[in-house]
Amino acid sequence: MVERTGRLVTDIDPSGAPRTPASAAGQGNACRFCGTTLRHTFVDLGMSPLCETYLAAEQLNQMEPFYPLQVFVCEKCFLVQLQEYVSAESIFTEYAYFSSYSESWLAHAKAYTVQMTERFALGPHSQVVEVASNDGYLLQYFVAASIPALGIEPAANVAAAATKRGVPTLVQFFDRQSAAQLAAEGKKADLLLGNNVLAQVPDVNNFVAGLAVLLKPGGVITMEFPHLMCLMEQSQFDTIYHEHFSYFSLLSVEKIFSAAGLAVFDVDLLPTHGGSLRIYARHKEDRSNSESQRLLSLRAKEEAAGLARLESYSAFAERVKETKYALIEFLVGAHRAGKQVAGYGAPGKGNTLLNYCGLRSDLLTYTVDRNPYKQGKYLPGSHIPIHSPERIGETRPDFVLILPWNLRDEIMQQLAYIREWGGRFVVPIPSVRVYP
Ligand SMILES: [Zn+2]
Repeated sequence: MVERTGRLVTDIDPSGAPRTPASAAGQGNACRFCGTTLRHTFVDLGMSPLCETYLAAEQLNQMEPFYPLQVFVCEKCFLVQLQEYVSAESIFTEYAYFSSYSESWLAHAKAYTVQMTERFALGPHSQVVEVASNDGYLLQYFVAASIPALGIEPAANVAAAATKRGVPTLVQFFDRQSAAQLAAEGKKADLLLGNNVLAQVPDVNNFVAGLAVLLKPGGVITMEFPHLMCLMEQSQFDTIYHEHFSYFSLLSVEKIFSAAGLAVFDVDLLPTHGGSLRIYARHKEDRSNSESQRLLSLRAKEEAAGLARLESYSAFAERVKETKYALIEFLVGAHRAGKQVAGYGAPGKGNTLLNYCGLRSDLLTYTVDRNPYKQGKYLPGSHIPIHSPERIGETRPDFVLILPWNLRDEIMQQLAYIREWGGRFVVPIPSVRVYP
């Protein structure tokens, strides 16, 4: 039983006594879903700067804010979460991540639009709404198919790119209030989607309540997010950063959706971001879609993996340390052998990895990125310079450390030419591995 009162969640415990997270915690450290005081650390990655704050040369001599990356698991609902050390508004209003720079992500988006159009019989009569629509990388395919689409994106610079490619986009944060406004304007959605946004909202109850408000009766919600089970099994600790407030299992997300009057009825297991879930949800009272076999089997799999038991979460921190030591050993060994190591990519996850491992430009000379917004800048914390990809051909490093390991295959294809001089690829997660 969860009731929303502004930003606070009021949890009614069996005794009937209402309890608010802030007062329950005493230090404001309460589960963002159920309000239970958070007492169990999942992993502590120390202090880190915001992973998307790339620095210009003139900023290198200035102070740089670092914030804790201490992740908790709720003993009651098992939501793995990071406190909102930095407000979402300050993180997402100018965002450097343009989805269209990744080819495999574009292909993923296009395949999704085709699948959804067929499965849910979308057409010119339908309304598609995407929350956190980025630069219109996905909605452009609905627009091309003459299916009315609307994007909602808080970062003005990214939204402008969407509008330019013909995707109607509102510059705003999505919540219950903005959803109610859109619903009043006749914009209720037949398909309401959000990719990699659910993890990034601090007030998850308010956000999911907004989804329920904006969803047409009979409509379908799909949400994609990295799967906690994969994060745990494959030591993907670098996907933890301040922009990601929550780390979901099917178990925890079903509880959150249920509290907002929504029911999950199907799930896809996706390879994106090292293993993601795409959940399908509907209004609870809408019985047109029944629970799929895939959903039942994933529930059983999570149960078997121990995701409903607190002790299953405690082993993760030790595995993370091992991953760190192995990467440091590799880089120090390469350095002593006189080898040059360059990075590929400047993703948020790379910054968590480099800062947690304490790596600087003595062990990783530079990195490259295809996004011109990042070129010429420096990684936050580590101050490793970011160049354009041509740099690799110019300096011929012995090893290229692939920071966005989720795009490993695509990058190894693009950079196949490093083998001409005997260059090799290194992937740091789940533990350091050198590819011939
Ligand atoms: Zn909780």
